Amino acid sequence: MNIFFDVDSTLIARDGSLRPFVPQVFERLIAEGHRIYVWSGVGLRWEVGEQHRLRPYVSDVFVKPMYDHHNSLRLLGVSVKPDFCVDDHPEVIGAFGGVTVWPYEDPDPLDREMERVYQMVRGLSKARLNGS
Ligand SMILES: [Mg+2]
Repeated sequence: MNIFFDVDSTLIARDGSLRPFVPQVFERLIAEGHRIYVWSGVGLRWEVGEQHRLRPYVSDVFVKPMYDHHNSLRLLGVSVKPDFCVDDHPEVIGAFGGVTVWPYEDPDPLDREMERVYQMVRGLSKARLNGS
């Protein structure tokens, strides 16, 4: 699946620190045949990948549509179909499917949302393989 991750309050906190287990989960998802994309409503966030050494995992970076989600994809140059989205706001999930995560605003080493994301992707992948 093409898995799209939001940036602010999804992958990083307000202070720019990375959510726990992001690289580990990215690595596992890729090993299982998924592709990772990063998008944000405030622009192309390549710097986040650079800062946190995520570039090897990220296939591409896009601008996230904030309204009229499906029609905006082409206008924003999103050339890949989002199969599963991870976002702290439910609107994008409502449009494309995926999981709404607990907003990661302040650094919290005990946060385990990325593990939940991984388990949801795994569950969905298994369901698809079983044709259900
Ligand atoms: Mg966000």
